Amino acid sequence: MILIDGKKTSAEVKADIKQEVEAFKAKGGKTPHLAAILVGNDGASETYVASKVRSCNEVGFDSTLERMGKETTEEELLAKIDEFNKNKDIDGFIVQLPLPSHINEQKVTTAILPEKDVDGFHPVNVGRMALGQPAYISATPYGIIQMLEKYDIDTTGKHCVVIGRSNIVGSPMSILMAKNSKYANCTVTLTHSRTKNLQEYTKSADIVIVALGKPGFLTGEMIKEGATVVDVGITRVPDESKKSGFRIQGDADFESCAEKASYITPVPGGVGLMTVASLMKNTLAAAKKEIYA
Ligand code: NAD
Repeated sequence: MILIDGKKTSAEVKADIKQEVEAFKAKGGKTPHLAAILVGNDGASETYVASKVRSCNEVGFDSTLERMGKETTEEELLAKIDEFNKNKDIDGFIVQLPLPSHINEQKVTTAILPEKDVDGFHPVNVGRMALGQPAYISATPYGIIQMLEKYDIDTTGKHCVVIGRSNIVGSPMSILMAKNSKYANCTVTLTHSRTKNLQEYTKSADIVIVALGKPGFLTGEMIKEGATVVDVGITRVPDESKKSGFRIQGDADFESCAEKASYITPVPGGVGLMTVASLMKNTLAAAKKEIYA
C-alpha cells in the first residue's frame, strides 16, 4: 500500500507556485492577491480560511480576510462581493461556505465575477469545465487530479466510483474523471444517497472517491484488492483525548481500506491540503490572466 501524501504533494505544488510568483514579478507582474469573505464564526470554516491565508503567505501572495458577522444580510454580502469584483488589486476571491441559512448560496456564488471565481463554483466556470474549455476548476477535484498525476496512477480505462454528488466535489469530480485526458479517461459511476446496492459498484471499482461526510463509511469489505481510495471527507468527531475536544475523520475507514488498497489518501494530511494548494494555483492563474484575458 502506498500512502498518497497530501502534505508532501501540496508542499511541492506550493514551492512551484512560489517560484512562479517570483518569476512573474521579476518580469513586472503584480503580486497575486486572494481575498476571502467569512460570514459568521463556524469553527471548521475559521480553520479552512486560516489555512488559506497561511498558504498565501507561504507562496508570496497578498491576502485579505474580510470577516462579516453571522447576522450579515444577503444584501450586505452581495454589496461586499460587488466591491471585491470591482477592486482591481484583488485577482480572485472566495466566499467561505457554508453560509448562514438566511443567505442564498446560489445567489452569492453567481454574484462573483467568473474571472475572479477561483473556487470554480460559478455556473460559467462549471459549464466551461464540463465542456473542456479553460476554467477555474473547483479546488478539491482539481487537487485530487493533481494527486493522481503526482503518483502517476494509471486511470485510463479504469472504473472510477464517486460517492456523493455535491456541486463542489462529487459532481465535478465525476465529470473530470471521465474526460479524455491522461489522469482521467475512466468509466465513471456517480453514486449518491439513493443508490441501491452501493457495494456492487464499489467492489468493482479500481478507484473510489468518497465524499459524503459520513466518517468511516467506506470499509475494506466494500472495495476490491488493489483499489485506489481517495478520501475527501472531513468530519469533526468528538474525542476527549484531544485538547480541541475533537479529531478529524475521513469518510473511509482507513485501517480496513489500507489493508486492501494499492494507494490511499489519509485524513488529515490528504485531499484537504491539496484543496488549498489548488486554490493557490487558481489564484496565480487569475493574476496571470491565464483563463480569462
Ligand atoms: P454534501 O454534504 O453536500 O453531500 C453529501 C453527498 O453524499 C450527497 O450528494 C448525498 O447524495 C451523498 N450521500 C449521502 N449519504 C449517502 C449514502 N449513504 N450513500 C451514497 N451517497 C450518500 O457533500 P460535500 O460538500 O461534497 O462534502 C462531503 C464531505 O467532504 C464532507 O465531509 C466535507 O466536509 C468534505 N469536504 C472536504 C473537502 C476537502 O478539501 N477535503 C472539500 C469539500 C468537502
